[in-house]
Amino acid sequence: MLSHEQSQGVAIGQCDTYAWFSQRAWVEIDLMALSHNVQQLRQFLSPRTQLMAVVKADAYGHGAITVAQTALQSGASWLGVATVPEGIQLREAGIKAPILILGATHTPEQIYAIAHWELQPTLCSPKQALVFSNILEAINHSSPIPVHVKLDTGMSRLGTNWQQACEFVQLVQSLPLLKIASVYSHLATADSHDPTVMQLQHRRFQEAIAQIKALGIKPPCLHLANSAATLSDKQLHYNMVRAGLLIYGLYPATHLRSQIELKPVLQLRARVTQVKTIAAGTGVSYSHQFIAKQEMRIAVVGIGYADGVPRNLSNKIQVLIRGQRVQQIGTITMDQLMLDISALPDIQEGEVVTLLGQDGKQQISADDWANQLNTISWEILCGFKHRLPRLGVI
Ligand SMILES: *Cc1c(COP(=O)(O)O)cnc(C)c1O
Repeated sequence: MLSHEQSQGVAIGQCDTYAWFSQRAWVEIDLMALSHNVQQLRQFLSPRTQLMAVVKADAYGHGAITVAQTALQSGASWLGVATVPEGIQLREAGIKAPILILGATHTPEQIYAIAHWELQPTLCSPKQALVFSNILEAINHSSPIPVHVKLDTGMSRLGTNWQQACEFVQLVQSLPLLKIASVYSHLATADSHDPTVMQLQHRRFQEAIAQIKALGIKPPCLHLANSAATLSDKQLHYNMVRAGLLIYGLYPATHLRSQIELKPVLQLRARVTQVKTIAAGTGVSYSHQFIAKQEMRIAVVGIGYADGVPRNLSNKIQVLIRGQRVQQIGTITMDQLMLDISALPDIQEGEVVTLLGQDGKQQISADDWANQLNTISWEILCGFKHRLPRLGVI
């Protein structure tokens, strides 16, 4: 159970200058859990398969630098980010591991930064390959940069259609300032019970690779699997898997839970800022969406939708306090929300409330929130704002 004084935390990331105990609300990042998840995944993979830790979007809200460092220490050998600034942030922190930019890059500034910081771009089209080649020539870049050729096998997002893979790869191969580091694709339905589309995408990928090899070109690395594909079929692992959600300790789908044992990394906590008793018939919060049926004891908590607790969860969630579940009541406001603590009337101001994570035997997960909101846990994790300091706990 969490008490007022309990839980040691150190600030991680860029956002925190205050000691953890002065905070009204914070995100705790359990680095042991992160390390555990990466090690579990490492054991699940063949020793020949590399593990890319996907740390885009500030490591799904967990804090990119600390997550990247911990993942690399625990068995990951590559990092994946979405944008150039995300890659630069890791390089500025002294991280030397190869970094793949999963998103598209086109502008001279982006290309210059990629070359300068030794980031590795995804090439999605012949046009983009030519732009890269021209800019690198214009800035007198002397040695070829590693590039990752992206094929669209059915996601209809980034990449060249798999049927044009040969022309695309041949073009990249012919440009002296580009060196193919990998060929890859991304799966649209790997979390589904029905494997039909995933298998179709896999066959297209296999076919494209076979044709590329028939040209005498052998890409040094092939990769296809995200978290869901990693758990659903080892045939999809190839030379590397790109795992995001799994390293943060969540499962892409319930039917994939039995494959590997993971621990959630992120916990969301806040403090009680006021307690009071309200009379029967009293309304709580904006629009009085909640009216007390009888006299109630309520607690005000210092966290709200501006911190990333979705307002659509109003009146729908429970939180943990002293290891017990209590109901959230009334509309969630920008900076605060209210709880029904009638069952725990002696709760004190300053006590710690767990919105996501564990307290005693009880646990609330990002999946619980995602189910309530008809969304996915990925979106919940990425929703926590920078106003919440990220505190590493071990
Ligand atoms: C985000 C992303 C991943 C990681 O996805 P998870 O489902 O979180 O494992 C892998 N590959 C690409 C191309 C991505 O954009």
